[in-house]
Order: sequence, then C-alpha cells, then structure tokens
Amino acid sequence: MMLFKKKKDLQTWLLAQKETGKQVGFVPTMGALHQGHLFLIQCSKKENEITVCSIFVNPAQFNDPKDFEKYPVTLEKDIYLLEQQHCDVLFLPPVDEIYPPQENKEEHYELGYLETVLEGKFRPGHFQGVCKVMHRLLTIVQPHHLYMGQKDYQQCMVIKKLISLSKFPATLHICPTLREKEGLAMSSRNLRLSVEQKEKALAVYKALLYLKKEFSHFSFDTLKANVQQRLLDAGFAKIDYVEIATADDLSLLTAWDNKTPVVALIAAFMGDVRLIDNMALTTA
Ligand code: AMP
Repeated sequence: MMLFKKKKDLQTWLLAQKETGKQVGFVPTMGALHQGHLFLIQCSKKENEITVCSIFVNPAQFNDPKDFEKYPVTLEKDIYLLEQQHCDVLFLPPVDEIYPPQENKEEHYELGYLETVLEGKFRPGHFQGVCKVMHRLLTIVQPHHLYMGQKDYQQCMVIKKLISLSKFPATLHICPTLREKEGLAMSSRNLRLSVEQKEKALAVYKALLYLKKEFSHFSFDTLKANVQQRLLDAGFAKIDYVEIATADDLSLLTAWDNKTPVVALIAAFMGDVRLIDNMALTTA
C-alpha cells in the first residue's frame, strides 16, 4: 500500500494512474477502522483498479471540542487492516495540508432543509464542516467513484447534494450498514463503550426493528414515545431524536400514507458517547 501525506504527491501519482485509464474509488474515513469501513474498501476494490482510503479526523465537523479530543485514534492497526484488504493507497494528511493557514476563507454550502433537521439540528455547523473537508478531499482525489455508509444516512444525502452543487464527476455509492453479531451498528465511537454499555446500546437496534414491524399499525407519535421510553429504560442518558422521515429527502412524518418509502433514525447518548443509527422501514 502506498502512503501519502502530501496532497501534491498523491495527485501526481493518481494522475499517472488515471492517464493509463484506471478507475479510482475513494473511501474517506476518520480512522479507528472497523469492518464497516473495510466493507467500503471491498466495495471499491470490486469496481475500481485503484482504491484510495483517507484517514483524517476533521476538526471542522466536531461541534463539541471534547468529542474531537476523545475521538479514537488507532493508526497502526488501521494501516495493518488496510494492508490486509490490499487497499492501494492511504492518504493521511496532517491538518495544515487540508486547511493551510494561509487559505483561511469561509465557505458556505447551500444545504437548505437538510442541515436544519436531525443531525443538522442537534449538531449545528456539523454538515458545513463535513462539506468543507469533503470538498477538499474530492478536489484532491478526483475519484470516479465514492463509497460511503448508510450508517450516516443524512451525511450521504448531504454529500449527494455537495456533489451536485460543486459538479464533481464522482458517482456516490451508498453501502449498507455493517453490524455486530447482535445488531449494534459498527462505529469507531463504540471503542469508547464498556462491555456493559455496548450491551445496553443494542436497544437502538431493537428499537429500529420494533419501528419496522409496527410503523404501519400505530401513529408515529405513539411509536416515537414508546421508543424513547424503551431507550431510557435500557440506560440511555439522553435522546436527541427518534424520527421517521421520507427516505428521499428526510421530511419528518407523523403518519404513513401506505406508499412513500420511509426511514427511521435515532440519535442517543450512552454515557457521554453519542450513537446514531437508522433503518429503512419500507424495504424487505
Ligand atoms: P467515519 O470514519 O465514521 O467518518 O466513517 C467513514 C465512512 O464509513 C462513512 O461513509 C461512514 O458512513 C462509513 N461507516 C461507518 N460505520 C459504518 C458501518 N457500520 N457500516 C458501513 N459503513 C460505515
């Protein structure tokens, strides 16, 4: 695996590859890699001659500085895992490579409604920070294909919008959420949970399954109240949201019309670890 820290070096190498007609797939991450990330690498490797993974813990997307400080870093293990997957390139830029101090311009991305709901509502500025880094990474890597996880459902929609706003020629592939055996969605933040907390956190997956089973039988208000209570009973300290929304644009719903594809989304704190998960309710 090639490792690049400087964007110029990566760009020069990638250009030479692209000139020989090779397709480039890109998997951006913040490291502390798990099987969910590796699954994205596998998807990219199936469809591209070159797979680039980036590891960059993006300070611009953490609305809570403590969350940024506590973000897990497991670089040696990450490199080992990527090599095992035969990932072609790791891009590991230092912060000033992505945010050169002399280029301190304020960008704003017109995300509209998308950044007013769910994660956008509870993490002000988060999606602007995500767009800021993704715009830079996509400009550097210029991939043909981009692989992201459904685990971060709203983020995928934001990046879809960014790609269309900035007219990047990349195709976005949204890959399914990988879960632990019992159902907990894999997440780098799970490293911060104790064994006991991990067990309690399973309540999110169970709540999503419950919503999937019952969403066509009860009012959404009743279901959401039930789920909130279940999560609190399971030991969640705080719930940011339990919502059911349209799958294509995340409009929040109070009832189902028997046809629109819908998705359930949950964000809640287990101790001081904020977990998010979602599930399509209308697919088999
Ligand atoms: P992160 O390192 O958390 O920023 O995630 C990097 C990419 O991996 C994002 O596209 C995430 O949606 C994706 N990802 C994170 N967790 C999972 C998972 N459990 N299954 C599939 N993809 C995931």
